[in-house]
This record gives sequence, structure tokens and C-alpha cells, in this order.
Amino acid sequence: MPIRPIVKYGDPVLHGPAEPVEEIDDSIRTLLDDMVQTMYAAPGVGLAAPQIGVPLRVIVIDLSVGEDPSQLIQLVNPEFLERDGEQSEEEGCLSVPGYGGTPTRPARVKVKGLDLDGNEQTYEATELLARAFCHELDHLDGLLFVDRLSPLKRDLMKRRLRKRVREGWEK
Ligand code: ZN
Repeated sequence: MPIRPIVKYGDPVLHGPAEPVEEIDDSIRTLLDDMVQTMYAAPGVGLAAPQIGVPLRVIVIDLSVGEDPSQLIQLVNPEFLERDGEQSEEEGCLSVPGYGGTPTRPARVKVKGLDLDGNEQTYEATELLARAFCHELDHLDGLLFVDRLSPLKRDLMKRRLRKRVREGWEK
């Protein structure tokens, strides 16, 4: 089952913290592979494990959406080492389809995590890649872009989304 259903805003798995991975075994490698296939099929530039209902600290990012294999990032237990500056650009989320917003993010980030073989990898990123890291790491802490909007916009969007959740996402 390589392509998995993406859970939507309102599902508790998206709104609580994810657990660290204790051991990178075949089940984690399968999870990462499924996440990549699911991200490409969506299509999207990033996906966090809670978005497919798995509350683990695992993310995938590929700004080329499968066009350039060198751009694929798969990280287990990612964490920030540095965050500097500010940027604000339009963002969306596969778990909040049809909605967008402009959260404030760091301009530059440095992130470390483990790759599929358990080796530590570090990435320095600016612009879209920095935003993607922030967006996906937020998912691991139960935060969505909606939670990073200015208070007025956040409250307005949350009201709209609560209504949408009551009505059901599939309509
Ligand atoms: Zn998202």
C-alpha cells in the first residue's frame, strides 16, 4: 500500500506531538518510501508522517516533486540547530486542501536528522526549502500553517475550518 490516504485538518493525529523514532528498521524505511510515493502522487513538496496518520517524527521533502532525485530529503527525528531572520510567503498544506495562508517563518534554518541508514545529516536552507523544513517540522509538534498566522487571520481561518470539519472534507 505505497500511496496512503492523507488525513485532514481536525484529525487528532495532526494536532498533537509525534513520538521520536527509536530504531530505523524496515518498517521505518517502508514508511519513508510510502511517504515519498504519497507526496509525489498528491502532488506536494513535503509530507510529515502524522499526515498519513502515523504519529512519528519522520518527514520527506522534495521541491522538484520527483523530477530531480538529488532533491529528495528523507529525515528521521529532525530538529533545528539554527533559525535566523524572517520571511513570509504563501503556503498551503495537503491536510488543509483548498486553503492557504502567509505564516511568518525564519529566513534561514539549519536542520539535523537521521537518514535511512541511521547516519546524521545536516541541511542549511533558505527561501522555499527553509519554509518547507519549518512547515514539516511544525507537523511533528502538532502545528499547521494556520497556527502560525496573525491572530486575526488565524481565528478567522479556524472558524472556517471548524465549519468545514463539521460538514466533512469529502464534499
Ligand atoms: Zn502540511
